[in-house]
Amino acid sequence: MASKGKTLFEKIWEQHIVVPETKETPALIYIDLHLIHEVTTPQAFTLLRENNLKIRAPKKILATMDHSTPTVPIQSLKDLDIVAEKGPAQQIRDMIQNCKDFGIELYDFDSDRRGIVHVIGPELGATQPGRTMVCGDSHTSTHGAFGALAFGIGTTEVAHVLATQCLLQRKPKTLAVNLNGRLNKGVSAKDIILKVIGEIGVDGGTGHVIEYRGDTVSSLSLEQRMTICNMSIEAGAKAGMFAPDDSTIEYLKDRPFSPKGKDWEKSIAQWSELKSDDNAVFDKELNIDVHLLEPMITFGTNPGMVMPINGEVPDHEGNVSFKQALNYMQVESGKPLLDHPIDVVFIGSCTNSRLSDLQDAATILKGRKVSESTRTLIVPGSQNVKKEAELLGLDKIFRNSGAEWRESGCSMCLGMNGDTVGKGQLAVSTSNRNFEGRQGVGSRTILASPKTAAASAITGTVQDPRQYEVR
Ligand code: SF4
Repeated sequence: MASKGKTLFEKIWEQHIVVPETKETPALIYIDLHLIHEVTTPQAFTLLRENNLKIRAPKKILATMDHSTPTVPIQSLKDLDIVAEKGPAQQIRDMIQNCKDFGIELYDFDSDRRGIVHVIGPELGATQPGRTMVCGDSHTSTHGAFGALAFGIGTTEVAHVLATQCLLQRKPKTLAVNLNGRLNKGVSAKDIILKVIGEIGVDGGTGHVIEYRGDTVSSLSLEQRMTICNMSIEAGAKAGMFAPDDSTIEYLKDRPFSPKGKDWEKSIAQWSELKSDDNAVFDKELNIDVHLLEPMITFGTNPGMVMPINGEVPDHEGNVSFKQALNYMQVESGKPLLDHPIDVVFIGSCTNSRLSDLQDAATILKGRKVSESTRTLIVPGSQNVKKEAELLGLDKIFRNSGAEWRESGCSMCLGMNGDTVGKGQLAVSTSNRNFEGRQGVGSRTILASPKTAAASAITGTVQDPRQYEVR
């Protein structure tokens, strides 16, 4: 009998096993790159101190500050007392001290490499095909866009990886999501992943690593693939992945941490082997007809409660938690959300804050004004994205439209340092979570693409971006 082929995930997994899994114990796997930031590390550093442990491989750590950083410019750390909340300001100070004490390079406020950890990893070329990558943050799945096996870990695991560069893990199952056809104008990668989550539900990927395959893939940019992998965990998946291809290699060429010279040639040869075998078998499969997709929006309080922008809020059919979600969102079954008034638009987060996301928004906002009743906050994912956007004049387009243009950070994705959605207010947001109060106490969130968010900012109501000239 012919042997079964291996999936991309299985190949990377096997290359990183230090001690194989048994019935009693998980596998011990080697971690190539550990991403850290100020939120999930303080307790981990405390654990290291308490146990008199050192960092195993400081050069295999990429450290930045993103969650707690204010998005207004600051001149010195003293400014934190004015522009940041007390808790976040302390997290930032602790991060600076911890990195100093443990000999870790940190992309601090004065670094032009600072930004959301899932934006800077790829743009610095630290995210590479075939690598195992972890971070104390769920959306580490983003890096799978490059063919890395990347996933979020808990605080104790952060300490374990800092001390050993290894991690105990049970082997996940595999789910193939086959994407077929090309995206229509006005429809985005965000709409693909919202559709996937809507199809399989917020726990449909639990215990699985998703590999995105199909003829759509070659037409997706790496930034689009990142958006899709980013939200894979919102379907419960451990990670999302795309096999590396020519676009991946083109993206990584000449990035600061990309291999150089002969190492580059060697890496390309290795990366070209990183794909699922033709006879590989996945535990589950799902097919999505991308060419049939419309812009998608959420209507409820999890990312699986999603519908086409021209659709109607579905019936709850007696489902109590569904009904509660509609009550919280103040929306009704059988009614459309198109033209529904909104209070806030947020364009940012590790899902949609890269240059192409900002270009999507700018194409719509150019020469137009946002509604005076709608606060529109646009936050680049990194200082580098900010610089590139400003070189293209996108900041002027945004400011002229009446939107706010900020320094990089997580910002309104989690509602921090005044970048919040007020109680009872409704936001159209390009972030990834629409749970009750996610963007501020009592806030309500509709998740959407940057195109949909920008179109909605103009009228202060939910709008279909396809009415404008869109990319
Ligand atoms: S942007 Fe939001 S989801 Fe992404 S890392 Fe920051 S807080 Fe987490």
